Amino acid sequence: MNKQQFIEDDLKYIWRPFTQMKSLEDASNRPIVITRGKGIYLEDIDGNKYIDAVSSWWVNTLGHSNDRINKVIYEQAQKIEHVIFAGFTHEPVVEFSKKIINKINNKLTKVFFSDNGSTSVEVALKMAYQYQVLKGHPEKKKFIALKNSYHGDTLGAVSVGGIDMYHKLYKPLLFEIEQAESPYCYRCPMNCNKETCNCECLKSVEDILSDDASNIAGMIIEPLVQAAGGMIMYPPKYITKLRSICDKYNILLIDDEVAMGFYRTGKLFACEHAGIVPDIICAAKGITAGYMPLSVTITTDEIYNAFYDDDTDGYKTFYHGHSYTAYPLALAVALENLKILEEMNIEEYLKPKIERFSKELEKFRNHKNVGDIRQTGMICAVELVKNKVTKEPFAYEDGIGKKIYLEGLKLGAILRPMWNCIYFITPYIITEEEIKKLTDIAYEALNRVLPN
Ligand SMILES: *Cc1c(COP(=O)(O)O)cnc(C)c1O
Repeated sequence: MNKQQFIEDDLKYIWRPFTQMKSLEDASNRPIVITRGKGIYLEDIDGNKYIDAVSSWWVNTLGHSNDRINKVIYEQAQKIEHVIFAGFTHEPVVEFSKKIINKINNKLTKVFFSDNGSTSVEVALKMAYQYQVLKGHPEKKKFIALKNSYHGDTLGAVSVGGIDMYHKLYKPLLFEIEQAESPYCYRCPMNCNKETCNCECLKSVEDILSDDASNIAGMIIEPLVQAAGGMIMYPPKYITKLRSICDKYNILLIDDEVAMGFYRTGKLFACEHAGIVPDIICAAKGITAGYMPLSVTITTDEIYNAFYDDDTDGYKTFYHGHSYTAYPLALAVALENLKILEEMNIEEYLKPKIERFSKELEKFRNHKNVGDIRQTGMICAVELVKNKVTKEPFAYEDGIGKKIYLEGLKLGAILRPMWNCIYFITPYIITEEEIKKLTDIAYEALNRVLPN
């Protein structure tokens, strides 16, 4: 393989996601050709190795090229790679569904399949609205979402998004929503103190509901971490209280666990930390350990039963599906992933790693540009600021994240800061030594760009 030719062909034929294509004229922005991966490492065409500190867009949990997953893909492909999911079923989808419902103690009971996080959100929104219609409330058609939220890039998901750079331009195409304050503890919208916080920012949700609950179908949240909004973290009690508010005003709570699900926070689903059960859970990223596109929208009997009837005109049928609904190859992997996680005793397995991250993050504390250090389970973030006292952020044009990214590459880690946050979302199999190594690299990269 000729590397130069390869990169030129990449530029010539491909339109990349989230990328100003012209910026690729700059040699430092050229894509790196990855030829293999093993464990937490990715290797490029020149033999350079990088720690995959972003789990290849937050999906990889068991490391790259896991032998058991590879074997399952091969074996399933020899049985049946795909079959239409109308009128037919197959072993992995039934086994997986049974297992996942079992794992959440039957608190939610029905699994609907699609193939990426955005579509799992589309499914949730359509399901929630149709549920309200079927319950005799067609006027309940608005959703509440949070500022700084990210739920995917398809139009329904963009409608409930709250990040101007990604979402604002498409506004004329979107449905109307109500937007509540972001529970951004470091920059609290209510100017409250973290230690004495009583989730005062939930008032903005109550304000919307006391005004307009009769027109609202549900509220969608990213539990505990608004990840794409800048690794914004908030406490479980926010979700506990929100559950009561949703019950009080009789609206549905949609829990978008696409990024947090499958043990990213230390538990199968982040909502478990809040001790509540949402009406709908969306999950995707970790579901196949990062090997196959797959997502689920899981819901309750209450919602399912509203659709369940002798349906002569199709009015109560849920008209949604994809060519790859319940893709057998992906389901076989998802099932094997659950088995592996079970055998690892994953909750216990993650505890020392979470603790080690917490300890290693302390080295950032005294840096003059570190405003906040946050951690939720296996998600760690360091928010950089121009001024620690005023919390003045770096401007987009400062390009701090990009500079740190480039230094990280030289030092052997894919850091890819988000807004002004250096973050770590690594595969779960990272060792404690590797946690030290990775955080040392990040600290060195930070100091090369912003000397302390
Ligand atoms: C990534 C993400 C999505 C979108 O998932 P895709 O698979 O990229 O479509 C939705 N919600 C959250 C919270 C996410 O982090």
